Amino acid sequence: MKPNYIAGQWLDSAASVANISPSDTRDTIDHYAQADAGMAEAAIAAAHEAKAAWGFCSPQARADALDRIGAEILARREELGRLLSREEGKTLPEGIGEVTRAGNIFKFYAGEALRQRGDKLASVRPGIEIDVTREPVGTVGIIAPWNFPIAIPAWKIAPALAYGNTVVFKPAELVPGCAWALAEIISRAGLPAGVFNLVMGRGSQVGQALLDDRRIDAISFTGSVATGRRVAQAAAQRMAKAQLEMGGKNPMVVLDDADLDVAVECAVQSAFYSTGQRCTASSRIIVEQGVYARFLQKLRDRAASLRIGHALEAGTDIGPVASRDQLEQNLRYVDIGRQEGARLLCGGGELQLGTPGHYMAPAIFADCDNAMRICREEIFGPVAAVMPARDYEHALALANDTEFGLASGICSTSLKHVQHFKRHAQAGMVMVNVPTAGVDYHVPFGGRKGSSLGSREQGSHAIEFYTTVKTAYVAG
Ligand code: NAD
Repeated sequence: MKPNYIAGQWLDSAASVANISPSDTRDTIDHYAQADAGMAEAAIAAAHEAKAAWGFCSPQARADALDRIGAEILARREELGRLLSREEGKTLPEGIGEVTRAGNIFKFYAGEALRQRGDKLASVRPGIEIDVTREPVGTVGIIAPWNFPIAIPAWKIAPALAYGNTVVFKPAELVPGCAWALAEIISRAGLPAGVFNLVMGRGSQVGQALLDDRRIDAISFTGSVATGRRVAQAAAQRMAKAQLEMGGKNPMVVLDDADLDVAVECAVQSAFYSTGQRCTASSRIIVEQGVYARFLQKLRDRAASLRIGHALEAGTDIGPVASRDQLEQNLRYVDIGRQEGARLLCGGGELQLGTPGHYMAPAIFADCDNAMRICREEIFGPVAAVMPARDYEHALALANDTEFGLASGICSTSLKHVQHFKRHAQAGMVMVNVPTAGVDYHVPFGGRKGSSLGSREQGSHAIEFYTTVKTAYVAG
């Protein structure tokens, strides 16, 4: 059994879960300890205890530790990428890419630990000087989803540690393998005991314990809207700082003047790669009427060329759905789409392949209406809803007509429309002639409306969440 990591110790627990590959349900990766509320409490106590020493230690010590973690992740990217693909189901190149991203994130924040600066201002009162500085927020509870099993933990843990916070990390139930491997690397990086803790376990127990404990000063959460709402309520109840990244229903607009090959590639990559399990996936494709029929034909042809298969098999474009529950949800939405009157152009069914896994043929619905549930609710699978638009203005209105606001894309060669779209898309990220999914690691990431709450993650913007500002007045 792979144990939890609390106060610098590896601790077994009475309960454990098997980590089973979605590509082949006969393949058990390992068994992982399941913490109960008592163990979560012990981890919180350890992180709380360690916070003063870590918060005041030299930034060089923090930079060195983060650099070591990043270097080891990068050196082991093939092996860790294989583990990631085996447990989550994204293809091996995608898995290695995600691990590389995680390593780069730690390296980036190693540098950030040394780049903390403040302001010095003259007071309006004579003889007084003012310093504005940043201090760690304290002990951070990190709650992660399953779809980026190493990159999301990395983009929360690395800035938390860089800016001097201690961490209790609760990974998603479905992907303990990458979480454990990351924790094992962090455990050898020279951090004092208690600065970083791993508690694998159920959201309703371990996650809830993080929400309710006053010693957790801040909560960084990524996951579904339903859980996000609970997190926001619990944090507000006890005035804890919270940062939430949640779902998306990201649009991609294709105008008549688009390079059609680029547009089809953007749509296929955004909607279907990583099996559609990305918060930035394009699930609504809005196409101007002049090019609608041709676009649909090309999209269908390209989708037909995709190879669905075992995540670790060379040549696989789309791996399995990550779990049976998620596959069943996807299939339910395909039924809903049919009942709502959308035209199923291709795919949408479960596939039986060479190994028993959760395989699904990517689905394209045509002639959708933006009021349909398949256009309004996040499915989180390889299901694309295509709808026609009369002109650019109509396309923009459809793109913005959603409760979400994470990413918004446009394919066009018109500078005028691209510039207008960049300005008027109601989303945290705008992509022009590139897929909506797939972002850089050194710039802010996040959305607006129902997709996000709180300050941005990643890049140097992460400092907003992981620090608090102090204003000091000093009379000379
Ligand atoms: P989820 O909400 O089911 O779970 C997320 C995490 O919350 C898990 O670790 C889970 O154990 C925990 N949790 C569950 N109940 C809890 C409780 N009562 N208290 C505290 N924690 C609890 O989400 P998921 O299915 O793992 O992930 C998929 C979702 O994540 C999708 O909606 C997707 O859009 C979203 N997501 C968003 C982003 C983003 O940055 N916007 C990135 C990736 C994924």
